[in-house]
Amino acid sequence: MLNAFFFYLFSNNELNLKKEKTKKEPCMTLRKLAFLYAALLMLLLASVLISYRYFVSIPNMVATIDGFHQRELVTLNSALKKEISFLNTMNYDYAVWDESYQFVTDQSQAFIDENLLNDTFVSLKIDGIFYYDLDYKQIWGRGFDYLNRESIGFPELNLQQNPSLKSIFPTSPKAPNKKTITPLEKVPQNGGFILTKQGPVMFSATEVRHSDRSGDPVGVLVFVRKVRPGLIKSLQEISQLNLSSHMLNKRQKQLTIPKLDGKLYGETFTYKRQRIIENPSGEPVILLNIGHQHGAKPRLFDKTTLFTIALLALVPLSMLIFINRFIVSPVTQSAQFIRKMVNTKYFHHLTPSIKITEIKNLSDDFNQLINTVNEQRIALEELVLTDGLTHINNRRAFEQFIANSWLRMQRNHQPVALLMCDIDYFKPYNDNYGHQAGDNALKEVAKALSKRINRSSDMVARYGGEEFALVLADSSTQNCEFVIKIVLETVRALNISHQHSKVSNRLTISIGAALSSDFSVVPLSTNHEQFIKAADDALYLAKERGRNRAVKVNFIAPSNKSVFCQEMI
Ligand code: GH3
Ligand code: MG
Ligand code: MG
Repeated sequence: MLNAFFFYLFSNNELNLKKEKTKKEPCMTLRKLAFLYAALLMLLLASVLISYRYFVSIPNMVATIDGFHQRELVTLNSALKKEISFLNTMNYDYAVWDESYQFVTDQSQAFIDENLLNDTFVSLKIDGIFYYDLDYKQIWGRGFDYLNRESIGFPELNLQQNPSLKSIFPTSPKAPNKKTITPLEKVPQNGGFILTKQGPVMFSATEVRHSDRSGDPVGVLVFVRKVRPGLIKSLQEISQLNLSSHMLNKRQKQLTIPKLDGKLYGETFTYKRQRIIENPSGEPVILLNIGHQHGAKPRLFDKTTLFTIALLALVPLSMLIFINRFIVSPVTQSAQFIRKMVNTKYFHHLTPSIKITEIKNLSDDFNQLINTVNEQRIALEELVLTDGLTHINNRRAFEQFIANSWLRMQRNHQPVALLMCDIDYFKPYNDNYGHQAGDNALKEVAKALSKRINRSSDMVARYGGEEFALVLADSSTQNCEFVIKIVLETVRALNISHQHSKVSNRLTISIGAALSSDFSVVPLSTNHEQFIKAADDALYLAKERGRNRAVKVNFIAPSNKSVFCQEMI
């Protein structure tokens, strides 16, 4: 996989290199690519998390919190009903009672004096007691603030003058079939809230009947209790809500706030809401401001989400570090090495700093390639610098060598000698013994000359045709003359028959030697080409003087080509 990736990378690089020569195209670095990928990955992870939170998690939480709110509203509603039910219980005790029944019938003062005293209000914790006959006529009624212990008025409860409050009656008492009740039926009773001059009050109304509930009702008994802050406080304790109430007046009928019945009316998420408590006619009486316990809506970016995003960011970040450390850096380093190799043309092995199998395999393969390239280069160099026939150095190798030797000897003020050797009458040899024999003779001469050259600072080369060149670096005059003699003798000693030579009956050579033994007298402007020319001129002299001999010149200046000549046989 990684190999394929690298192959892809390198094959692309190769393509890019090719392209670079023609047109430089913009391309992205691996590091930048990894960074982009990491950034995209992080963006993706973050958006998945945020989307999950936005579309799933938060709606679920809101639904759960709405559920809590709903239950809190239900609790509040039931707590309120319980308060009414307490009042109902007391009201029932007084209404379904023979003595009350009797009082509605005869309206005796004795009943009032005995049962409806100030203490009755205090002990029952009520602020008003009202008896009505079946025609809504108030038989007896009294308002008494049981806390302040003072008489108060509830003019609204004169139902004949204020018929809108007739709805506080549990049933229409005159309804014919509702009068008598069976033992299984409950005594009709009503409870709730109404608005009075004294502010909102809780009321309870029960039909006045015999204690044994037999017979028909004779009237209705109504208890009222003012809605005091204490009630709101106790509701708050029961429901665990943050409550405040606002009293309404009759003019505020047009309120569109929902009534308190424990329901959520499709409201958008809120932890503060309002509810209306209505009177039996559906008119608003109390406005409740409700603050729920489970308050704030869950935020899209809360601490946990931000922390999770930060944690998720570690994934692409660590990937980036990993890719950078284990892929980008080795690849970049290797690319730098390779570029350096290309520039210096010196190809050597890559040594990856990371021990990863794929990278090691890649560098091993590359090193193998380098081996092949180096081998091919050496072979090519050999091929370029070697003579195909004799397998000794060719003219190109000779010219490189003499140029280097010349400079080195010139720099070090060391003597250098060049011997140009030419086979005598080789054309007639070829013509008479054949080209093949000529080749063989050339090979033998080359081999014999090579054997005479042992030092690495010396060299023998085929200069061209039947000419050979010998370079003797750091060679004294005596040594040079000695080598000349040896070389002449070596070829003669090959004893290659040459009946068509005019100087001998065997193969011979002529030598033109140039010796630069004192660089202090050689102008710096002179070069190896002039030195070769001097040796060539000496060869010409050797030929001219009869062949099968050597002419040596001491090289001083190019113009003075034969300051000192010496012939040898
Ligand atoms: P001189 O004594 O003046 O040197 O005369 P020469 O005949 O040796 O020289 P010339 O320049 O006239 O002829 C050189 C000959 O060398 C010509 C060619 O037939 C022969 N020759 C050159 N290269 C090769 C080669 O690679 N193989 C063979 N067989 N002969 C070659
Ligand atoms: Mg020649
Ligand atoms: Mg010749």
